Amino acid sequence: MTQTADTPVVQVNAPADGGIAGTVPALDAAAVAARAAELRANQAAWQDLGADGRAPFFAAYRDWLLDNGEEITDLLQLETGKVRHEALIEIGMATDLINYFSKIAGSALATEKRKPHNLTSASSNLSVQYTPHQLVGVITPWNFPIAGPFMDVTPALCAGAAVLIKPSEVTPLSIVRALDGWKEIGAPDVFGAVTGTGETGAALVDVVDFVQFTGSTATGRKIAQQAAGRLIGYSLELGGKDPMIVLADADIDRAVNGAAWGGLFNSGQVCVSVERVYVEAPVYDEFVTKLSAKVAELRQGPGPLGSTDVGSMATPAQVDIVQRHVDDAVANGARVLNGGHRGSEGYSFEPTVLVDVDHSMSCMREETFGPTIPVMKVANADEAIRLANDTEYGLSASVWTTDEERGLEIAGRLDAGAVNVNNVLANLSATALPHGGWKESGIGSRFGGEAAIRKYCRAKAITTAKMTPKNELNWYPYTK
Ligand code: NAD
Repeated sequence: MTQTADTPVVQVNAPADGGIAGTVPALDAAAVAARAAELRANQAAWQDLGADGRAPFFAAYRDWLLDNGEEITDLLQLETGKVRHEALIEIGMATDLINYFSKIAGSALATEKRKPHNLTSASSNLSVQYTPHQLVGVITPWNFPIAGPFMDVTPALCAGAAVLIKPSEVTPLSIVRALDGWKEIGAPDVFGAVTGTGETGAALVDVVDFVQFTGSTATGRKIAQQAAGRLIGYSLELGGKDPMIVLADADIDRAVNGAAWGGLFNSGQVCVSVERVYVEAPVYDEFVTKLSAKVAELRQGPGPLGSTDVGSMATPAQVDIVQRHVDDAVANGARVLNGGHRGSEGYSFEPTVLVDVDHSMSCMREETFGPTIPVMKVANADEAIRLANDTEYGLSASVWTTDEERGLEIAGRLDAGAVNVNNVLANLSATALPHGGWKESGIGSRFGGEAAIRKYCRAKAITTAKMTPKNELNWYPYTK
């Protein structure tokens, strides 16, 4: 990273106790352009290696991440205030993504044959080639400082692109350390980072060929406008207000566990967090009683592996949003069954269950991104679907029922880019699936499967003539 004695820095906070975790340089547009040029210069050779030639670098890098996982996890935990278990999971998610995408890269990038479909194509062989963008920019938020970037960086590198990442200024320390590994294993210089605030991010959009952004809807709009001005491609993965629907025939214990973990994992700071729950009337009382008991068991705070369940939040501003949503709900008639207040240490908020909520309240309409689970009673599945779709967002959703066919039928009626039925991961989708947000939750984003790699490529349509004159169309002159 280009840095001089005059380069300003960004301070990184330690949410668990409100202290200082470190600093990183706040790079200006000239530094961003210089780093982009270095990466761009190495991209063609990286592309020429092909998927098989790149595979050993991914295997070596995965091993480096595992070997250095504890050190990176220390930094990650320091800058996020996550519990150890959730910080360690990020290393596992990153290495899993590297394994998966490097394994499918060959088939994702292989030339595809297409059947001739009309008279003009009858005499041709048709195929599609996939050519990577030269330099992909990746801009990320603070909720998953390692796993988040690797969801985007890995398919882009596997496509053969060079990648320049701008991590969140709130949590840059762990990903900057993780990047050391790419150099240490001797991989080509096609993967770099520039640190700084939104200004550095905007400078990045000015020098890349394609930008993948994950973050707030407001910033996503700005990036889309900037990318449109340059006529470069972009994909946006934005906010969510993801619903969970519990039908009367659900396995209630399983649904309770899904709501508790899905709503509180990472202190609710997950784009696909369970942000609101709709429960059919006959099982509502049982559901909220069991959910409240489950949440009451959870232990909050920093500590060694296995000693706590719910960590800090990333910033004081995020804690303020949660408090505002809880206060608004209570002022409008909701009841707090668990939590409802700021935690005693650092930037934290108690795991919170709210009942007697409705759609007039901000906790049911705006993204909370915090450890709250608002639960609403509904008369039937139709009402649950109507309310679930009553949002500008459409990221993910889940349905809980023992009737899988019914679950799939309801999944088809929900406006969301991913729907899980009874899934252990609550509202989190699978890496092999092309999850991307609908409505204001995103545009053009594809998180999994071959689509994630092809997103960083341009398709090239190839026709080669079969050279069989009897099938050939006539050129000039036109005859009868
Ligand atoms: P944010 O939009 O404030 O910042 C995200 C990133 O964009 C940061 O790196 C920031 O420095 C950068 N940035 C800010 N202004 C910019 C600009 N004008 N040009 C270029 N880059 C700019 O979001 P945040 O507060 O870091 O993250 C929280 C939000 O992210 C939540 O709304 C959450 O839903 C969303 N999120 C979505 C997903 C998803 O997959 N859909 C995942 C995680 C977070």
